[in-house]
Amino acid sequence: MILPIVHHPDPALRQLCKPVLDVAQTAGLAADMLDTMYHASGRGLAAPQVGQLLRLFVMDCSWKDGERSPLVMMNPEILSRSDEMSRREEGCLSIADHPVWVTRPARIEVMWVDETAEQRRGAFDGFDAACIQHEIDHLDGVLILDHEEKP
Ligand code: ZN
Repeated sequence: MILPIVHHPDPALRQLCKPVLDVAQTAGLAADMLDTMYHASGRGLAAPQVGQLLRLFVMDCSWKDGERSPLVMMNPEILSRSDEMSRREEGCLSIADHPVWVTRPARIEVMWVDETAEQRRGAFDGFDAACIQHEIDHLDGVLILDHEEKP
């Protein structure tokens, strides 16, 4: 099901989201968020962007290059960040036509719960690392606008 996407300056985008407690009950929302993300031609979508204040996001950074490889992260935690930084232009489905250059750690290690309630852990770099940090920012009410480098 395609869900309506919330746009800046909606207050839902500025809240601290609550942990997911019932994974089974939340898996349907995650599936709808993936439908919504692909439909909007995005690479990541966080629950507050569809008005749900839960620590959950979906992503698929490479689907535009070929097959879909969806990832659902509930209650994600960044365990470590590289000292090396990486700067890239990021867009956001909640902030239309306003890409922002953002500098973030180049590599991160993340722990999360997937849609089958399995606890997972992984290391990410490149576009994936930037996408995960962008989406976790959403769960803390942070937007790319807050990272905008002042001239
Ligand atoms: Zn975003």
